Amino acid sequence: MAEIVIRNLRKEFGAFTAVQGSSFTIADGEFFMLLGPSGCGKTTTLRMIAGLEIPTSGEILIDGEEVSRRPASQRDIAMVFQMFALYPHLNVRKNIAYPLVSQGVAKTEVASRVAEVARILRIEHLLDKGVGGLSGGDRQRVALGRAIVRRPKAFMMDEPLGALDAEFRETMAEELRALHDRMGATTVYVTHDQLEAMQMGDKIVVMNHGVVEQFGKPQEIYDHPATLFVADFIGSPSMNTLRFEGVAQAGATDVTLGAARISVPQLQETASTQSLVLGVRPEHITLGETGDLPAQVLATEYLGTTQIITLETAFGPLKARAPSGQPARVGETLGLSFTAPKLTLFDGATGRALRSAANAGVHHG
Ligand code: ATP
Repeated sequence: MAEIVIRNLRKEFGAFTAVQGSSFTIADGEFFMLLGPSGCGKTTTLRMIAGLEIPTSGEILIDGEEVSRRPASQRDIAMVFQMFALYPHLNVRKNIAYPLVSQGVAKTEVASRVAEVARILRIEHLLDKGVGGLSGGDRQRVALGRAIVRRPKAFMMDEPLGALDAEFRETMAEELRALHDRMGATTVYVTHDQLEAMQMGDKIVVMNHGVVEQFGKPQEIYDHPATLFVADFIGSPSMNTLRFEGVAQAGATDVTLGAARISVPQLQETASTQSLVLGVRPEHITLGETGDLPAQVLATEYLGTTQIITLETAFGPLKARAPSGQPARVGETLGLSFTAPKLTLFDGATGRALRSAANAGVHHG
């Protein structure tokens, strides 16, 4: 069990800065996601926590102890890689037992811990099989078993499901999460898949170009993105962002968008500029014959119980999620209304969400 505190963590590779000074706290027992697009610095951050990379500056505290310059072997952290290397000449039991045997743990203790791990992972029936004939999922379970058997303080997982096909990925994701809930060990998990992060994580850090854009619970991040990057990266389809010129002042409860006054959660700060962006999720748009903003239907996409309707407005295109029964013909003009408490207003110059009654407690990067 471990609490991991990251303070101003920075990593430079020559002239290139991969991680630009991250700070966040991973609570004991949390399933914590490092999320962001390729190259944003997730793996480098994970490797620094595990001790496989030395930070250029900053601190990593595990249970209050500063460890950033300690070798990996002294951190009691297990790393689970995407490409799980098993020993091909050993059977499943011996693969799982290996870390204990190499530490010189007594035979009876090894046997009981391997049995416990096999029970947790539900692979008792595989223990005497060779690893060569195992399916991808079973190999992954054995690799996990080898990490778990040491009872480390924390697990680091770098896209552990990346090599699996979509259907199987989902099953393994559920298994991993259930496993975590049974064991309660702090887990840091790298992914570029926002859906995976939302489904599995207790908390998420969203990174972009080496910078932490936001960290918080999945729903906080979904409901209250701290930046335009997060608004775009989280959700499918992502949050609509309508750019407009206007005034956004502390205390205001609405903004003027063309001919319409749009109600927003009461602002607690004034924008630095008149270039503003209104953020609205597809499910917070209501379509009718009349509304605040006229919009022409460009396309509809049937998804079963709901449909995604793409519309053109004077402020750019947007996507609305509506019940599939909602009539929408391509080419017709509809009126859009927005669910006021769910709107986010961004400063168009800085790309940051303006603080409001709705998002006041959100952690920026
Ligand atoms: P991916 O999902 O593609 O692995 P990531 O978010 O995990 O992306 P990192 O692997 O942390 O990103 O890499 C961040 C940046 O640092 C990348 O631009 C990468 O090329 C660079 N980088 C990583 N390791 C090194 C290294 N040893 N030397 C030089 N540059 C590196």
